Amino acid sequence: MIIVLKPEITRKQESEVLREIRKLGYRPHVMRGVARTVIGAIGDERTHQSLETLTTWPQVEQVMPVQKRYKLVSREGHHENSTVAVRDEVIGGKKVQIMAGPCSVETEKQLMTVAHGVRKSGATILRGGAFKPRTSPYEFQGLGEKGLKLLAKARRETGMPIITELLSESHVDLVAEYTDIIQIGTRNAQNFQLLIAAAQTGKPVLLKRGLSMRIEEWLLAGEYVMSHGNPNLLFCERGIRTFETYTRNTLDLSAIPIIKAESHCPIVIDPSQGAGRADLVSAMCKGAVAMGADALLIEVHPNPTEAWSDGPQQLSLELFDRLMKELRPFLAAAGRE
Ligand code: PEP
Ligand code: MN
Repeated sequence: MIIVLKPEITRKQESEVLREIRKLGYRPHVMRGVARTVIGAIGDERTHQSLETLTTWPQVEQVMPVQKRYKLVSREGHHENSTVAVRDEVIGGKKVQIMAGPCSVETEKQLMTVAHGVRKSGATILRGGAFKPRTSPYEFQGLGEKGLKLLAKARRETGMPIITELLSESHVDLVAEYTDIIQIGTRNAQNFQLLIAAAQTGKPVLLKRGLSMRIEEWLLAGEYVMSHGNPNLLFCERGIRTFETYTRNTLDLSAIPIIKAESHCPIVIDPSQGAGRADLVSAMCKGAVAMGADALLIEVHPNPTEAWSDGPQQLSLELFDRLMKELRPFLAAAGRE
């Protein structure tokens, strides 16, 4: 921490600050400038009590943290990219993983059609919501356990691992029994008890960015997962809420190089919730691959016009197949598979 003292304070006032810094376990280092004095408080901000309360002292002008507040997700302590293994697939390696499937699991026929279809086009992981976080309580809430059973059946038939959302702590055991990756949705991104419960299952956790979450807050939410003993963490950018109305959300692709710089964890891009428009998904995927995304999470439906949720943003199987072909040169240019 850096503590900037107000000008023209007395030596006595300064020594009071120094005493407080020592009391809280830091070693003060005084730097006396021409106009004012700055104190560097040396010590680990993550294990010592915060010095932030010093801002309320009359002789202190500003307190500035210098250390990152996250540790386990940080690249500082783990220089290599980390990878997350899911059955036979690895996320965060050379291969860009394609997680595809419907927004919601609706019927057996719908899910099996999508699962076989996306598999044929090159998807590696099957997505599908069984518990749906809907803005209105009158909208389709998901099939619940029946949806999980259908996902498990699709996994048996196609061999693809599955990812599905965990909405509530009360579903942890149920969802973990079926899924290979636990998705934490944007609305729950700072539901810390849910993050802890998800972490404790030991399953890989895909953490979506909250609707209005700063990247630091997102990294700290990820720290909850890792600090509860689960290193298998994936960050997923899915668009943030801005003033723009041409898209459902604003897909923040700058999150890719920022997460890559700050963290060793893989980064996944969800262009479907990100744009909310099927016609933008392809361009967003190409951009994401070029920028270093480790996986894409794409909504695909056999008949988007009849989807029970998120119809406007879901790709048909034909469009998904075309997208997979169009992505090839972008993957090659990015040195990925
Ligand atoms: C979804 O993946 O269908 C979903 C609900 O995602 P998000 O939490 O990002 O809105
Ligand atoms: Mn959706």
